[in-house]
Amino acid sequence: MTTQQDVLNYIDGDWTRGSGDDSADVMNPATGEAIAAVPLSPASDVDRAVDSASKALKAWRHVPAVDRVQCLYRLKTLMEESAEDIARAITLECGKTLSESRGEVLRAIQNVEVACGIPTMMQGSNLEDIASGIDEHMIRQPVGVCAFIAPFNFPCMIPFWFLPYAIACGNTCVVKPSERVPLTMQKVFALIEQIGLPDGVVNLVNGGRDTVDAILEHPEIRAISFVGSSAVARQVYAKAAANGKRVQCQGGAKNPMVIMPDADPDMTRANIAESAFGCAGQRCLAASLAFTIGDARDWFPDVIRDAAESRVVGNGLDEATEMGPVITRQSHDRIRGVIDGAAQSGVALLAGGRDCSVSDHDGGYFLAPTVLDGVDPGSDIASAEIFGPVLTLMHMDELDDAIASINSGRYGNMACLFTSSGGAARKFRHDVDAGNVGINIGVAAPMPFFPFSGWKDSFFGDLHGQGWDSLEFFTQKKVVVERWF
Ligand code: NAD
Repeated sequence: MTTQQDVLNYIDGDWTRGSGDDSADVMNPATGEAIAAVPLSPASDVDRAVDSASKALKAWRHVPAVDRVQCLYRLKTLMEESAEDIARAITLECGKTLSESRGEVLRAIQNVEVACGIPTMMQGSNLEDIASGIDEHMIRQPVGVCAFIAPFNFPCMIPFWFLPYAIACGNTCVVKPSERVPLTMQKVFALIEQIGLPDGVVNLVNGGRDTVDAILEHPEIRAISFVGSSAVARQVYAKAAANGKRVQCQGGAKNPMVIMPDADPDMTRANIAESAFGCAGQRCLAASLAFTIGDARDWFPDVIRDAAESRVVGNGLDEATEMGPVITRQSHDRIRGVIDGAAQSGVALLAGGRDCSVSDHDGGYFLAPTVLDGVDPGSDIASAEIFGPVLTLMHMDELDDAIASINSGRYGNMACLFTSSGGAARKFRHDVDAGNVGINIGVAAPMPFFPFSGWKDSFFGDLHGQGWDSLEFFTQKKVVVERWF
């Protein structure tokens, strides 16, 4: 049995217990054991965090940008030194493999690196003599107190799509991690505590739905960044906007892979297997649908079945593991229900479709990597997000048919094409309705100096996380027209 840990909030530079009575268990998905209790913080805790952030804002926004980013340089160093410790915390509570967790920490650090460029990025523009003797300047100023609401699947990286940029731009903030994976931010905030930020610049409030509601209703929070399922993203977007806040909400996905007959089989197999089964299919960029075009049908089902069957499932803390468990028992049962329902309706089960037994881990939420074949493009299973290690195969004659089918779907997070034809690649990237596109890439995750895009029901708002979009989101423009005598 793992020792239980209490999860704390970090408000005004102090670690504090949630002030309400409600809490939830944090589970280790590899064992099914409770490893911590997370407070479901009430509105009063959000109020205290926002009060502190509002007070800190008054001075922080006047600290020169070049001095603000010194804290981020220190954070980068500390995160690098603690990368393994953070990665282990991610694996413990989220289930993904250690190498996946290490990659996640690296991407969080890369966002810190990009935000260190804010003194250059935040520069405005000007034009002398817009009329004789009159000059015009556009300067960027911070927005105010910002809040970040994160999902379970990247407990370290996703808050870092926002946090480093926001504070480098002179804002202060409140972070609300997913209540299913709050331990990673406990580690990260133990580092944030050491980087010389004034109290209140960065606050941590743990909780669930009620905590989010308190954030959405707080009049002093000026901007909300949300990442999670589309249903919640849509609600958060509507409520935050109705309350007059700037808002960006990244939502769910149903990512298609299109395999042309001229694709390289080994490369295609490796990339699509990693995309579909890496992180147990719980990436927002996970492959969920695979369209074989023409003769690709003759070889792709066999190679992807072999890849699914040979993937090593186990505890992510074991270095030999290639796929960990899904996040909760409830998630496991829901995914099993989807697979069983598909099998009963006549869909062929090429691989998996069952639980995976892992020795000494009877309570873990393990599923076998699953491949379903011959799915009707109009069915639920072809259109709804599953968020588990399940790849659904469909067969079409032409690339145009696959693009039409993809574009008729509700999501637009990512679409990938596997081919050796430049013409097909050009057509696909031009015609497909998706915010992130991969050509011979199965997880087209934008680097931090590009926006993490997403279209249609995968995103509500206009400015995405990361890079220049972050700069735009976390600053407001002031235009000054001046004449001197
Ligand atoms: P979720 O929507 O259940 O939860 C996300 C956050 O919202 C959590 O902090 C949670 O506490 C809060 N929340 C949950 N229900 C709420 C409600 N009714 N009202 C207010 N707040 C609520 O998402 P999840 O299960 O944690 O994460 C998985 C989802 O996130 C998937 O759909 C995945 O595709 C999506 N995701 C998207 C991206 C992207 O960039 N588009 C990235 C990662 C994950």
